[in-house]
Amino acid sequence: MDKIDKKYIIAIDGFAATGKSFLAKELAKRLNILYIDTGAMYRALGYFFVSNNISLTDENIEKYLDTLDIKLEYVNLEVKVYLNNEDITDKIRTEEVSMAASDVSKNKNVRQRLVKMQREMAGKESVVLEGRDTTSVVFPNADLKIYLVASPDVRALRRQKDLEKKGQILSIEEIKASLQKRDLQDSTRKESPLIKVEDAIEVDTTNLSKSETVEFVINLLKERVTL
Ligand code: C5P
Repeated sequence: MDKIDKKYIIAIDGFAATGKSFLAKELAKRLNILYIDTGAMYRALGYFFVSNNISLTDENIEKYLDTLDIKLEYVNLEVKVYLNNEDITDKIRTEEVSMAASDVSKNKNVRQRLVKMQREMAGKESVVLEGRDTTSVVFPNADLKIYLVASPDVRALRRQKDLEKKGQILSIEEIKASLQKRDLQDSTRKESPLIKVEDAIEVDTTNLSKSETVEFVINLLKERVTL
């Protein structure tokens, strides 16, 4: 395989709480490249409907979509999310908004709009993106495609810790049920379901530490691009 030494794209997909955000951020930091959290965009839209008590029907989505302006801004690799210029960063990481994001993400127009934004954001820079369709739809020509997996128990524990840090206390059973429901919806929907594309490399983080995961992926990248 010829190595490329210009712009490169790393795409990471996988179910919720498999470690995608950590891996993507760490790669962005180590490689000094752009990071795009595609899930944050779906969360911003989901948040609009939850916070305004509007039910997530296709009809309502079509009605409001044009009025919703999403912006992502990065401060030390932490993503700040704005909806119509309001900073909603601290409001989009609840289980309620996670599910609303999954509901809104089934809509074809929503997906078309956000995929276009993601491609524009990536522009001509080297980039690492993470989500559900970054390997299959957003950048099917990515230089490195990772499909991240981890056991349900480990994922639930990781999510519980993340939520705890934000002051949200949920039992492991509640979190497992919520992850399972969202996984099923994300992988069985009609539009851009989460799939493992043929040329993606599956990385199981169940028994890997964070640094082992990052090292493993950087080594895979070194086989493909000149860093
Ligand atoms: O990655 P995160 O858990 O923040 O994503 C929230 C939800 O947004 C996912 O459960 C999924 O339904 C949706 N999503 C998507 N496509 C992406 C990223 C996220 O459909 N590329």
